[in-house]
Amino acid sequence: MFTHPHNDSAVIIGAGLGGLAAAMRLGAKGWRVTVLDRLDRPGGRGSSVTRNGHRFDLGPTIVTMPALLEELWQACGRDFHSDIDLRPMDPFYEIRWPDGSQFRAYPDTERMIEEVRRLSPGDLRGYLRFLKGAEARYRIGFQRLGRIPMHDIRETLKVLPAFARLRADRSILAHAKAHVRDPRLRMALSFHPLFIGGDPAHVTSIYALVSHLEKSYGVHYAMGGVQAIADAMVRVIEAQGGQVRLGVTVDEIEAENGRVTAVRAGADRLPAAVVVSNADAGHTYAHLLKGGKRRWTKAKLDRQRWSMGLFVWYFGTAGTRDKWADVGHHTIINGPRYDGLLRDIFIRGKLADDMSLYLHRPSVTEPGVAPDGGDTFYALSPVPHLGWGGVDWAQETDRYRRKVAAVLEQHIPGFEDHLSASHILTPADFESRYLSPHGCGFSIEPRILQSAWFRPHNVSEEVAGLYLAGAGTHPGAGLPGVISSAEVLAGMVPPAPAAALDLAAE
Ligand SMILES: Cc1cc2nc3c(=O)[nH]c(=O)nc-3n(C[C@H](O)[C@H](O)[C@H](O)COP(=O)(O)OP(=O)(O)OC[C@H]3O[C@@H](n4cnc5c(N)ncnc54)[C@H](O)[C@@H]3O)c2cc1C
Repeated sequence: MFTHPHNDSAVIIGAGLGGLAAAMRLGAKGWRVTVLDRLDRPGGRGSSVTRNGHRFDLGPTIVTMPALLEELWQACGRDFHSDIDLRPMDPFYEIRWPDGSQFRAYPDTERMIEEVRRLSPGDLRGYLRFLKGAEARYRIGFQRLGRIPMHDIRETLKVLPAFARLRADRSILAHAKAHVRDPRLRMALSFHPLFIGGDPAHVTSIYALVSHLEKSYGVHYAMGGVQAIADAMVRVIEAQGGQVRLGVTVDEIEAENGRVTAVRAGADRLPAAVVVSNADAGHTYAHLLKGGKRRWTKAKLDRQRWSMGLFVWYFGTAGTRDKWADVGHHTIINGPRYDGLLRDIFIRGKLADDMSLYLHRPSVTEPGVAPDGGDTFYALSPVPHLGWGGVDWAQETDRYRRKVAAVLEQHIPGFEDHLSASHILTPADFESRYLSPHGCGFSIEPRILQSAWFRPHNVSEEVAGLYLAGAGTHPGAGLPGVISSAEVLAGMVPPAPAAALDLAAE
């Protein structure tokens, strides 16, 4: 139990979606919450910047599993949909290949079947089997594993028989190959882990669950971007009596006798009985916790396989709303290679000359994201993280941007003649802006032996009162993952002392 019975202060380091969700949950439990973040806006990777009238949503664009957000709001006595205008996407996204073929993913199963039949009629049966298996993987991988704490190895051991049955040892790419023959369809069924930083050739086939999750719960877009969700979270925290302080970089989590006592930022010291770190788990253990024995030593962190880096070019165009009618809200543009490109990024750490891009065009759904008649885009290219060395982004950025532009020219011809705003993030920016180890996009890669018990836990093993939320902890990256991490940790934090007294008095 807490040795500070009168201290009901909880400090959250980081206003990413995981940190804000943890703050809401602790606020609902009566804790006096202070959130600290080094950026000038809440939302972390989900924040936005505005350039020349274009709002650029820097990170997440696809909202899946809205029920997790609805439940979070409910836990705080609020209604998510009163705060956020969430729009279902139909189609979800389009995938394109260099030979001009394309595949659209739809919410409707019949239309999906038509798409598969059009691309590769012989693969229809395999596709339907894949979908059925995806549901079983969703049940065990998300419902059973993703929403409970995993710091006790017995919880991980309990799922092993089901994992063996579902061939969790097999990568999702190998799993797709076992079901369908067309290389394009293999890509379409296996690329999803890239959205949470995993190499499809090495991430477990349990991630096939995403196909079920998309089909059953849809793919959504939040009007105002994910920034609107982060801003609404801040309003809930403030209505609970909590505070969000921006422009503050935390230097240390202080502990005494094995228990957190405070958080220090420069000359400021905030006493706290509970600390939640939403900074990357690697940053938390390597830099914020000083001294003492710990499981996550620098050597252990160095041995992890980290997710890939991201090169993201955000650009605006003027007077283009009537152009490129075939380019929708979400487009995945494949380069000539899939397996080989994955190997370059994840195994060889080599910046390749070819690339695959994810193209985001939110102005299709939300015209107000760009000045009148214009468009707002981002093009994202997965690249090796900084830990591989060899790429000096200060030198490479413009050269690589031109290569990205050459690929885009085939899909949005003439776009550079209309450019009205431009902003770029490279892995070097992820390192300096978010304090992300190796500048990677999604923290520790979600391989099977880096998941569940093997991942940094939601509760610290060495310091009582310290909890972790966000991409680097259980269950992992992506909005559903980080929102769940907050739910999991909040389940382990008792009500604030004052709230506990109120309950006892009732
Ligand atoms: C380009 C991109 C596209 C993505 N697309 C999707 C998508 O479509 N759908 C989806 O579900 N997910 C997507 N993701 C993944 C998802 O955005 C992230 O996994 C998730 O937002 C991470 O949340 P988090 O809670 O871990 O915190 P983060 O967003 O990483 O925020 C952590 C915060 O902590 C702050 N911080 C760190 N250290 C300190 C310190 N010492 N002191 C003070 N503050 C500190 C950082 O500045 C940051 O604001 C995408 C990610 C990226 C980068």
